[in-house]
Amino acid sequence: MPSQLKPASEWRRLLIKVSGEALMGDGAHGISQKTLQRISSEIVEVVRSGCEVGLVIGGGNFLRGANHMLTAVDRVAGDQMGMLATVMNAVAVAAQLRALGTEAVVLSAIDVPVICDRFTHRGALKHMAEGRVVLFAAGTGHPFFTTDTAASLRAVEMGCDALLKGTNVDGVYTADPKSDPNATRYETVTHQEALEKNLGVMDAAAIALARDNGLPIVVFSIKDEGALPLVARGEGVSTIVCD
Ligand code: UDP
Repeated sequence: MPSQLKPASEWRRLLIKVSGEALMGDGAHGISQKTLQRISSEIVEVVRSGCEVGLVIGGGNFLRGANHMLTAVDRVAGDQMGMLATVMNAVAVAAQLRALGTEAVVLSAIDVPVICDRFTHRGALKHMAEGRVVLFAAGTGHPFFTTDTAASLRAVEMGCDALLKGTNVDGVYTADPKSDPNATRYETVTHQEALEKNLGVMDAAAIALARDNGLPIVVFSIKDEGALPLVARGEGVSTIVCD
């Protein structure tokens, strides 16, 4: 087992990253109610297993700053819109978690005082210690970053045992499995190798932050039903990025 990684039975606090796209389900945009319910129920299962849970939800189901037509004119404005998209997703997931009987609170990196509180480290720690799921909205609060980097940052800041990164594929492959039939999945890979080989785990800033702070990243498919609670128990299919 890689040296940084505690056995899953000892994980006490986890940061779960869910891309905005995952919330679309079979749709092309926005939030699928069915998928929102399914992913939220899986998060509830992780909470009920006794872990403190932080969540970072992306915004790509609504908007990505770098892809928006505004980008050529004003990337900052595009990214601000992207950050607001992550607030919408966080509000939706928090509401769904509460509807399922799990306390949840949205803390935003930008001020949206009518909707949620501002993120502070001490505030987030208190909510987590009191058993609430904390949804870290608006990414890092700065343009030119992604919610992957926000997930790494919050995981490190909150002292999480691992970052569970839910994506479209069940791990990290030697090549794109959609276009290369010989692509194989890594069981484990180091942060450095992921960076050097540009394996597409997360963006480089997110991986470097994880590497520099000894944060293991577990990459799994959020699309596979039941995969999240399994990886949170150290089971199921994933790639572990760890030194
Ligand atoms: N964003 C940003 N700063 C951050 C996090 C996100 O500006 O710290 C913006 C950026 O425009 C990004 C969008 O919000 O494209 C949505 O986030 P992301 O692309 O990471 O979402 P995901 O791909 O995970 O759905």
